[in-house]
Amino acid sequence: MLHQFRIMVVVHQKNVVFEESTLARNLEPKCKQCRREGEKLFLKGEKCFTDKCAIERRNYPPGQHGQKKGRLSDYGGQLREKQKIRKIYGVLERQFRNIYKSADQQRGVTGDNLLQLLESRLDNVAFHMGFGSSRSEARQIVRHNCILVNGRRVNIPAFLVKAGDTIEITKNAKQQLRIKTSIEAADRRNFPAWIEMNVQEMKGIFKSKPERSELPATINESLVVELYSK
Ligand code: SF4
Repeated sequence: MLHQFRIMVVVHQKNVVFEESTLARNLEPKCKQCRREGEKLFLKGEKCFTDKCAIERRNYPPGQHGQKKGRLSDYGGQLREKQKIRKIYGVLERQFRNIYKSADQQRGVTGDNLLQLLESRLDNVAFHMGFGSSRSEARQIVRHNCILVNGRRVNIPAFLVKAGDTIEITKNAKQQLRIKTSIEAADRRNFPAWIEMNVQEMKGIFKSKPERSELPATINESLVVELYSK
């Protein structure tokens, strides 16, 4: 289910890529998206870490025929993996294809490049720093002008963060309870190794792009490469 609306995107900096003038959102219920993929995609913030998670209770695809067993074709498996990765990072089809194209043009392993580009998006980095309890909340925080990158306000979720960039919450937004709460929760779960976080100042450094070994093993990006190489 997609909801589309037109919006003017003002590009502040040269290294902003993949943003489109027509924004769209996936309005499919988040837990249904996880059930469709058969695993936790952590789309709902704190609820994902409790036993209220829908995957803990009903780990089968939604719908009348959800509990019927069926074998996926090779193509079906590749397609599901691509959809899963898109859902995890909250990226729509066209954006995802553009990111893939860019990953393919870079040196190195295309699958690794793809994940590194997705991980470098500002909304994703803000999520890892705990500025939002989920990627969609972090995206909203970015959109609402609550984030500074190297001291400059950036409100584009697709902005690519570079190694060494400093990301922080603006002075006004530091008062927001939801941001404080989610940083504390992220601190309890520990921050990823590629992020250096100062919880008191609500400020972090994106030290480097994550290595493949530091990213979830449940993602099989080579299936996406196979899908798009056809
Ligand atoms: Fe997915 Fe989170 Fe819902 Fe569990 S609670 S099904 S991980 S969105």
